Amino acid sequence: MQQYFVDVILPIPVEKQFTYRVSEEEFGVIQPGMRLAVPFGTSKIYTALACTLHQNPPLLYEAKSIHEILDESPVVTAKQLQLWFWIADYYMCSPGEVFRAALPGTLLLESETIVLRNDDFQASETTLQDDEWLVYEALQHQPILKVTEVSSILDKKNTLPVLKRLLEKGVVRVKEEIQEQYRPKLVRFIRVAPRYSEDEALKELLDDLERAKKQKEVLLSLFSLSATTKKPIKLKELQETTGASAAVIKSLTAKGILEDYYLQTDRVTYSGKAVEETRELNTYQEKALGEVREHFRDKDVTLLYGVTSSGKTEIYVKLIEETLARGRQVLYLLPEIALTSQLIHRLQNYFGEQVSVYHSKYSNNERVEVWNNLLQNSQKTRIVLGARSAVFLPFTDLGLVIVDEEHEVSFKQFDPAPRYHARDVAVVLSSLHGAKTLLGSATPSVESSYNAKTEKYGLVGLTRRYGDVLLPEMELVDIKEKYRKKKMKGHFSDRLIEEIGESLSEGEQVILFQNRRGYAPVMECNTCGHTPQCPSCDVSLTYHRIRKQLRCHYCGYHMALPESCVACGSSDLDTRGFGTEQVEEELREIFPQARTGRMDSDTTRGKYGYEKIITAFEQQEIDVLVGTQMLTKGLDFRNVRLVGVMNADNLLNYPDFRAFERSFQLILQVAGRAGRTEKRGKVLIQTYNPYHQILQQASMNKYGDMLTDQLNDRKQFLYPPFYRLIKISLRHRNYHTVQEGANWFSGALRSHFDIPGWKRDYILGPESPSIGRIRNLYIKDILIKIPPSQNLKKVKNGIARVHKSFSAIAAYRSVRVSFDVDCY
Ligand code: ADP
Ligand code: ZN
Ligand code: ZN
Repeated sequence: MQQYFVDVILPIPVEKQFTYRVSEEEFGVIQPGMRLAVPFGTSKIYTALACTLHQNPPLLYEAKSIHEILDESPVVTAKQLQLWFWIADYYMCSPGEVFRAALPGTLLLESETIVLRNDDFQASETTLQDDEWLVYEALQHQPILKVTEVSSILDKKNTLPVLKRLLEKGVVRVKEEIQEQYRPKLVRFIRVAPRYSEDEALKELLDDLERAKKQKEVLLSLFSLSATTKKPIKLKELQETTGASAAVIKSLTAKGILEDYYLQTDRVTYSGKAVEETRELNTYQEKALGEVREHFRDKDVTLLYGVTSSGKTEIYVKLIEETLARGRQVLYLLPEIALTSQLIHRLQNYFGEQVSVYHSKYSNNERVEVWNNLLQNSQKTRIVLGARSAVFLPFTDLGLVIVDEEHEVSFKQFDPAPRYHARDVAVVLSSLHGAKTLLGSATPSVESSYNAKTEKYGLVGLTRRYGDVLLPEMELVDIKEKYRKKKMKGHFSDRLIEEIGESLSEGEQVILFQNRRGYAPVMECNTCGHTPQCPSCDVSLTYHRIRKQLRCHYCGYHMALPESCVACGSSDLDTRGFGTEQVEEELREIFPQARTGRMDSDTTRGKYGYEKIITAFEQQEIDVLVGTQMLTKGLDFRNVRLVGVMNADNLLNYPDFRAFERSFQLILQVAGRAGRTEKRGKVLIQTYNPYHQILQQASMNKYGDMLTDQLNDRKQFLYPPFYRLIKISLRHRNYHTVQEGANWFSGALRSHFDIPGWKRDYILGPESPSIGRIRNLYIKDILIKIPPSQNLKKVKNGIARVHKSFSAIAAYRSVRVSFDVDCY
C-alpha cells in the first residue's frame, strides 16, 4: 500500500522537522508553505508549516495524521523558507523559532491561543455555519475562549479551520500579545449649547451677560468665527482670536452656555494619491546617486555615508523610483523608532498607495493585510516600510533593500531567538532575490565601514548638508571645572543655561539629551548606604518620582517609595545619579516660563505615545524637549537650534567593546537634530573628561579618525570585525547548578577546540553578566572569539556537539542554554 507523508516545521524550539501522515488526496493538495493543523504531544494543537512531501515513513516513531489543511495556497514562499533556514543555521536556533517570529499571531493559531468576541461583528448570524454558530454563541456568554475550550464545545479536534473561518468573517479576534487600544487623536472643540439656538433664548442670554463684558465678547466672537469658517471651532482657536483667558471660557462652560465636545481628527488625512513629484537632487546628491549606481554594477551592497541632513532620503527616493519602474518591490528598513509619520507621509506623497508599513506596534490584522498583499504582489505593497521583522515578509520580486540608520543597535534582536541582525539578514534576503542593498548612515557602524574599506561593499560619501547648512558648532563644557567654580545649577552649567536662555528668547527650540530614563537611577540610604534591590533580578531599583515608585527596568517589579530605609530604618534617603525626569524638573525651576516635554520609554508607551510628543514638538507646543536616545533617531525638526548633552561620561563608561563607537554615534546623531535650517546650530556637551579622545573626535566630526582608532583596538583585543563573537548563555534558578554547568560547558569547549590555530584567550568565561540574575534565573555567559582563519560553520558544529553532550547530563538537563551569534 502506498503511504504519504509531509515534513513540517512546528513553531517550537526543536531542531528537527516532524513527519505527519496524510491521505493520498491530501498529498495531492498540500504544497510547501501551506499551514496545517497538527496534533502534538498528548493534547496540543499547533499550526505547522508544510515543507517536504514524501513517501518514507519515519523510522523512529509512528507518524500521526494531520488534523486539517488550513490554506488553499501557500502563505509562505519558497524564498522565505530558504531565508528562514539560513537564519536558523547562521544564528544557531531552530527553524521553528524563526517561523514563530516571522508569522503575525493570527496566522499561528494553536491550542494556547485565546480568542475573543469581536464586538464590531454585525453581519447577520445566518451567515454562520453550524459549528461557527456554536463558537459564536459560546462567546456571547463568556468573553474569551481558549482553543482547547473551543475543541470541547465543538466536540472535535479540528477546531483550527473553524476558528480560521471565524477570524476571516470577523466574528472573533485573537488576543494580541500587546494589547493595543486604538486611540485616535481627539481634539477639543467648543460650541454654544443647543438650547440657545432659538433667537428668543439667545437674546435673553445676551441681556443677561450685559454685566459680564468679557464673557459676552467671547460669545459674540464665537458666533462670528462660526459664521465665517462654517467649521467646528477649536477651543484653542477661540482663545487665540479673543485673547480670552481659560477662566472666562471655563465660567461660560460652567454656566452651561458653552459646551465642550471632542472630534476625532486623524493625523493622516491621506487621499491615497501621490501628490508630489520627487525632488530634483542637488549636484552633490546627483553625484552620490551616480556613484551608488556605479557600485551596484559589480557590488550587491553599498554603504552611503552621508552626514545628518545631507539629503540621503531623497537619494533613496530616486532609487525607489527606478526600482518601481522596473516593476520590482522595495523594502525600506528603519529602526522601529525612526519609523515616524514624518517619513511615512513623505513617501506617501511621492508614491501614493504603493507604500505599506509593517511595524510591531501595528495590530495583527494590519500586519496580516501587508502579508497577504505581498503574497498577491499587490500594488499596495510595492514599497514596504518596516522595522526589523519586515525581513520575514513574503516578497515575490524584491529589487532593492534600503537599510537606513544601519548603525542602529535596535536592528539586532537580543531576546528571544532568533537573535538576528536585521541589517545582515536583509543583505542575505536581498541576494536571494538578486536585489541590491543600500546601507545608509551619518555614523556607519565600524563593521560596515570595514566591509567598505576592504571593498566587500561599495562606499559613497555625502559630506555636505542639503542647502549647505553648516554642521552645528560643538562645544565641550568641563563640568568638573564648573562644579569647582560653583557654576552649576543642579546639572546645568552656566554655559548651558546661557545658551538655553538665548534660544528661548529667540523663539527657538532646544533638545536636552540624557541617557537615562526615570528620575534618578537609584535611591540610597545616607546612613547605612543601602540601595533597594529587585527581588528577582540583580539590579538596583530605579526611582520614579512621578509615580512615587521604585521600579525594576528588567522585570517590571515595582514598589511604593519607602519612607525609611528597609535595612536600618533611617529616613535620611537620597538619590544618586540623575535621569530625564530630574533634568526636566530642574529645567522648570531655572526656566519656569518654558514649556517642557519629555520623551523616553515611560512617556511614549502605546502606538501613538511617541507620535503625540513628536507632533507637539513639531508644532512648537513644546520649547524644550528632554529625552533619551530615542531623540537621536532620524527626526527632522525645523526650529531646533540648540542641543545639550547633559552628561557624556555615562555613555563612555558603558562596559562594552563598542562603548566608544556608540558614544561617537550617539553624540553626532543628537547633534544632527540641531540647526537643520539656515541658522547654524549649536551643541553643548557637558563632561568630566573634555579631553577624552572620543569626545574630541565627536566634537570635530572626525569619523575617519574614530574608525582608525577603533579598528586598531579591535584588532589588538580580538574583537569584530576581525574576530567573530558567539555568546553562550546558561540560565537556571539555582546558582550552583548554573555555575557548575557553565564550568562544564566551557571546559568541554576548551578541550574540543584544543586544535592548531586556537589560543586559550579565544574562549572567555564563564562569567556573570553585569546583571547576574533576571526574573529569578541566574545567568552565566561564555564568550567565544573566532579568528578569521577558522571556518565558522565548523566552529558552530563543534559548539553544537558540546551542547549535545551537555544536554545528555542529567544534572544539567534543566539548564537553559541559548546562543547569540554576532552578539553585539
Ligand atoms: P538625511 O536623511 O540625510 O538626514 P534628509 O533626506 O532628511 O537628510 O534631508 C534633509 C532636509 O533637506 C529635508 O528637509 C529634505 O526635505 C531637504 N532636502 C534634501 N534633499 C533635497 C532636494 N534635493 N530638494 C529639496 N529639499 C531637499
Ligand atoms: Zn539605611
Ligand atoms: Zn527585576
